[in-house]
Amino acid sequence: MSARVLVVDDILPNVKLLEAKLSSEYYEVITATSGEEALQKIEQTAPDLVLLDVMMPGMDGFEVCKRIKENPLMAHIPVVMVTALTDTVEKVRGLEAGADDFLSKPVNDTALMARVSSLVRLKMTVDEWRAREGTASQLGVFDDKISVMDEPVENARILLIEDQEFESDKIADTMHRDNDDVIPVENGMKAMEYASQNDFDLIVVSLNLKDEDGLRLCSHLRSNEKTRATPILMIATEEDMPRIARGLEIGAHDYIMRPIDRNELLARIRTQIRRKRFQERLRTSFEYSLSMALTDGLTGLYNRRYFEVHLQKMLDSHKESSKKLSILFMDIDHFKQVNDQYGHVVGDEILKVFAFRIQDNLRSFDLVARLGGEEFVAILPDTSVETAHIIAERLRRSIHDKPIKCGAPEGEVRISTSIGGAIIEPGDHQIQAVLDRADKALYQAKESGRNCTVFENFGKLEAEKYEQQITRNAE
Ligand code: GH3
Ligand code: MG
Ligand code: MG
Repeated sequence: MSARVLVVDDILPNVKLLEAKLSSEYYEVITATSGEEALQKIEQTAPDLVLLDVMMPGMDGFEVCKRIKENPLMAHIPVVMVTALTDTVEKVRGLEAGADDFLSKPVNDTALMARVSSLVRLKMTVDEWRAREGTASQLGVFDDKISVMDEPVENARILLIEDQEFESDKIADTMHRDNDDVIPVENGMKAMEYASQNDFDLIVVSLNLKDEDGLRLCSHLRSNEKTRATPILMIATEEDMPRIARGLEIGAHDYIMRPIDRNELLARIRTQIRRKRFQERLRTSFEYSLSMALTDGLTGLYNRRYFEVHLQKMLDSHKESSKKLSILFMDIDHFKQVNDQYGHVVGDEILKVFAFRIQDNLRSFDLVARLGGEEFVAILPDTSVETAHIIAERLRRSIHDKPIKCGAPEGEVRISTSIGGAIIEPGDHQIQAVLDRADKALYQAKESGRNCTVFENFGKLEAEKYEQQITRNAE
């Protein structure tokens, strides 16, 4: 995966070294030798990742990181702090300052590529969501100011796979500082059992299990439907470096070396939890805005946009069918009077109940949509002319027979609806022509005194004729 990486270090040979390593892996590298220059370059080149030295004269790494994360135009760019090996306090401070990860100097190749590729992957995902969210955010549905750093890190559900009791206790104890709910297990079988029944925010796997291969376990967790997207943090020793590299290739997200430093462990766990929750939030937010774009906020029914696309698809696939397809237009009678008399709030309550009753009186595969205002439509697939008549009358009666409970002074309001129906034949594929025909029938229903149904080529239905059938069906 190619990406643009900005390397920032005040010492030129350090810059050159990282540049060489990254270029050999086909990353495009940009460089800066001071904090000020770094901020400038970020603005000019919009990199996918920043590798940031901590110790620099003038503006140091913490300050640069802070400025990146405070700037809404830059905050989504991942930052990796590059810091001296010994200083855990500094590393943790960097993460808390908003850095997405850290690397120790001298920079180990596996560690470098692991952090870079994992963060670039994350950035690509986030960019993709941000792009999809573009429209939604214009509609004001999506809050694009949310940042990964805003995610809570506490109360995570963590599965811990470690067979050394002392280590396991120490790790769990550290996790408890964040109020995490930890499930410790000592082998892969138990791990898979728990993982299949629970949703974990993170899985921590030892690569030094006595009786089995931790890497194999990582691979199982990756291929399992339930745990595929759950981040994995590996625990290993210095000698495990090649296996760590393999684990990262398989899809583990991060690793930590023994002897485990509690602060580093906590910082790495928090980073993973934050990212997972952030991605979940992006997805939920996207799904929400998608549903906002396709459904009507008041009634929950599909909106006109969805309806038109769907009807066109139905017309296209209807061509080869011999079955009848019916369309019913409904418009509430004198609804303006209802609003004028009781106010919009009551009007809205009535619209909701109206939508509910219509849907409640149709089959699950009939499509109901709100076209706007007090106009609704239903498409009834696979319905004969006679059945369509009965259903239309049933819908009309379901609205008029029972007053709607609402905030009106009387406690309820009786309304009625006019219905216009048309039968769609296999040759009909002009959506507008079909809609016009149903609309014309509806207009005739209004003209014929309202609270009635008119079908094209058939005229007004006689209510009495359907009375028996409707009550019989309802029983
Ligand atoms: P008709 O029987 O001829 O259909 O008369 P009508 O009053 O229902 O028709 P008209 O189209 O003149 O008025 C529709 C009214 O529906 C206008 C508006 O007050 C009301 N309306 C439209 N959308 C909404 C809505 O979302 N909420 C509420 N409460 N009222 C709405
Ligand atoms: Mg109306
Ligand atoms: Mg109207």
